[in-house]
Amino acid sequence: MKTKIAVANGDGIGPEIMAAVLKIFEACDVQLDYEFVEMGKSYFDAGHSTGMTEKAKETIENLGILFKGPMETPKGKGVKSINVTARKVWNTYANQRDFRSLNGVNTVFSNAGMQINLTIIRENIEDTYGGIEHMLTNDVAVGRRIITRPGSAQVIRYAFEMARRKGLKKLACGHKANIMKLTDGIFLETFYQIAKDYPEIQASDIIVDDLCMKLVAHPEMFQAIVLTNLQGDIVSDLCAGLVGGLGFAPSANIGDNISIFEAVHGTAPDIAGKGIANPTALLLSGISMLRYMGLTNNAASIENALLYTLEQGVHTGDFGNRNTPSVNTEGFANAIIANL
Ligand code: NAD
Repeated sequence: MKTKIAVANGDGIGPEIMAAVLKIFEACDVQLDYEFVEMGKSYFDAGHSTGMTEKAKETIENLGILFKGPMETPKGKGVKSINVTARKVWNTYANQRDFRSLNGVNTVFSNAGMQINLTIIRENIEDTYGGIEHMLTNDVAVGRRIITRPGSAQVIRYAFEMARRKGLKKLACGHKANIMKLTDGIFLETFYQIAKDYPEIQASDIIVDDLCMKLVAHPEMFQAIVLTNLQGDIVSDLCAGLVGGLGFAPSANIGDNISIFEAVHGTAPDIAGKGIANPTALLLSGISMLRYMGLTNNAASIENALLYTLEQGVHTGDFGNRNTPSVNTEGFANAIIANL
């Protein structure tokens, strides 16, 4: 029997890359049914303050998995990002991003032959992302940073469980507890408390600025890193750069009841509607969703076909060998399908 998941096409390039990914799923006979939900910028414009209809919210809550294209948040005061809202409403407390070098995708490390394979787990709910800010005077703005012990514990435990599941040998905690002694202090303290339950995993910590330098100079030092929200946001984009850019960065927002799988990049308004976007990041997110749902054979088949396609030098306009012609979004999907 097919399992049903909620799908939101998203805005900008969202519908184009989602169509490409679902076409690949269909060609691989993935046993999923899709319920498309009403969510995105046009629903803000239609007066839904959360950017989704009540029916969409209900569907996602019933099905538990949302596969989502990027969504635009209208600019201006009073409107919260739909992506941040969704993560909060459904308490998807852990943001997992897996980064690996892909043959056929040039990076600053390509010539050095360095292979990157690392996972960033970012706390997804707390920190400065509450947007609790006010003006103290005309010239002084104040923001609050909230880090709680239970909030830290749930994401750190998820990170250790993930490391155990993947058979990783080490997990690092990135932080700035030398300066933010209370907030980052709680996070770091909780990390070492939970580490005691996972004696087979070597736990270590590193100050976030030093981490950034080491990630660029010696990324092979790390297997997995857990961080607070803002630091994790920045470090994960740094890691996206290590493997070739946002076009290759997948993401999973994991909660106990609802999980959201999406690409890290946004709606790419500059190329939307042209049919030329790179669907790889959404496809990689879809592959991790299939694994999460236990559809491991489908995940492996699609991943192998993607890797082979990249090795063949097939590429969209945003990456790859500039001397070979690029294919459009559909052409890229078709090349993967031919390699399944
Ligand atoms: P962006 O990621 O949309 O685009 C940055 C650059 O990368 C652009 O030049 C774009 O063309 C390119 N790019 C991004 N994805 C690509 C792809 N798949 N293939 C080829 N090129 C790609 O970032 P932005 O311009 O800062 O944001 C645009 C909108 O997206 C904003 O409204 C923002 O709020 C939203 N956004 C949504 C999400 C999400 O839904 N998770 C994430 C980030 C940004």
